[in-house]
Amino acid sequence: MEQVAPKTDVAEGSGPLLVDAARGRKPLSQQVLERIRAAGRISRSDVAKDLSVSPGSVTSIVSGLMDAGLVRENPKPQRDFSRGRPPVELSLVPDARHVIGVTLRDGLHNAVLTDFTGRVVADATLECASGRKEPEELLADLNALLVDLLSRSGLSRSDICGVGIGLPGFIDHQSGLVHWCPFLRDKRVPLGEFLSDNLPFPVYLDNDVNLLAMAELWFGMGRELSNFAVFTIEHGVGMGLILDNRIYRGARGIGLEIGHTTIQLDGALCRCGQRGCLEAYIADYALVREASTALEWDSSVVRSPQQTLEILFDQAKAGNEAARTIFARAGRYLSTGLANVIRVFDPELLILSGARLRYDYLYAEEVLSGTHRFSDWIGRERTRIAVNTWGDLVWARGGAALALSAETDRIGEGL
Ligand SMILES: [Zn+2]
Repeated sequence: MEQVAPKTDVAEGSGPLLVDAARGRKPLSQQVLERIRAAGRISRSDVAKDLSVSPGSVTSIVSGLMDAGLVRENPKPQRDFSRGRPPVELSLVPDARHVIGVTLRDGLHNAVLTDFTGRVVADATLECASGRKEPEELLADLNALLVDLLSRSGLSRSDICGVGIGLPGFIDHQSGLVHWCPFLRDKRVPLGEFLSDNLPFPVYLDNDVNLLAMAELWFGMGRELSNFAVFTIEHGVGMGLILDNRIYRGARGIGLEIGHTTIQLDGALCRCGQRGCLEAYIADYALVREASTALEWDSSVVRSPQQTLEILFDQAKAGNEAARTIFARAGRYLSTGLANVIRVFDPELLILSGARLRYDYLYAEEVLSGTHRFSDWIGRERTRIAVNTWGDLVWARGGAALALSAETDRIGEGL
């Protein structure tokens, strides 16, 4: 079991470190650009080696990228310059492009502004009204967040070439249609189109857990892998899957709703309306529901779900048997859910990611041994399970990676 401190850059650079199998479909100049971004700093000859192409073709592509203001040369630190020209390393020009990543939540939105290398230049948080909203109200929230973010960065709207936005629910990334989102009043809202019409740059929408997986691929534990799964528990339960360096979204763009797979026939009622969903046993609201029944609290005190959860966790740690039972039961359902993910997808690594993961019952020994007991079989190598307890900005960073990736594709088409 690996557990790591929050980290934003595993190595210098950002983006997937492994060259993906689908790269043949990308123009070579885009592949060079992505290689330089992933490495941070790299020589022309290493780019040629990594992409298995001739040094001559890299040299001519790099001069085009330098003319376009996208790539620059940096002198390589070296003591002895007596023999020949000092070697140089290539890097992206950080200010060549800027993008914004946003995560929208019920009552709280986060945003980051990043440069062309993926480095965070500024971040902002907006506390806003909770509850179901119209698209116009969401746009007003977004505008307030952008004003704050841009003032912190010293940039203006015209400097931004795209925004990637993650939100919970069933989101069709391709069309920008939101089939359902817990804080939108209506179903089937063409939110992507509405926001694109009202903001001066392209808008890319996606499910927030897909963007969490994207953040792991670009900045986190997934950088050195091409196939991995991310599992997260917050208000709901989500899963993201990276296959060959890309987000897998399903045929209709709304796949991987692991939280709403049935784990108990005729079981507990889920907020989706069905019974027995995994989420109905392990999400925040499920634990809060059990806590209010099991713990004898003064009912005149109003607590937020988050406060209830904190108290429940503290009591479990202090040895309260009812509180411990609630977590232990949730842990058993969690291990069943994780084992199902391993059985179905066989990922190289399963990352438990998100702020909630500081509740250590989630990766207690019993949960892990339960997961392996459910998923092991003869001759099969165990899937690695790791925990990444990032802060809240990670979700927004995934949005920035989505926008940066779209912008890099756009540059690739024009080169
Ligand atoms: Zn459900």
